[in-house]
Amino acid sequence: MTNLAQKHPGVEMKCRFCEAVVETKKHVLLECPFTRMVWALSHISWEVVNSWTEDAADWFSNVLSRLERDATPRFLMLCWALWRNRNRRMMEGVIWEPLRVVNDAQLLLVQY
Ligand SMILES: [Zn+2]
Repeated sequence: MTNLAQKHPGVEMKCRFCEAVVETKKHVLLECPFTRMVWALSHISWEVVNSWTEDAADWFSNVLSRLERDATPRFLMLCWALWRNRNRRMMEGVIWEPLRVVNDAQLLLVQY
């Protein structure tokens, strides 16, 4: 939403899940209470995931360099599922529970 607001002033920038703060990439992928529940259910190390440094590219690089090899596809698919869920909330007004997002990521991974 911060990126969209730069192009379209007046756009509501609050997170559509917690409505507590401005929605940034870091918030959507890491900080939002909803997202934190997803990570907690994911069986991926929070210590590794919670390592945002400067931007999303650095975060991906940092996490991918520290994850066990078998956790890498699950991490990437969870990021994708979080983004899909965010867009589903934005476009369709649908809210999925955190466990459903985790299961969606797993299903996407199996299908892939
Ligand atoms: Zn939030």
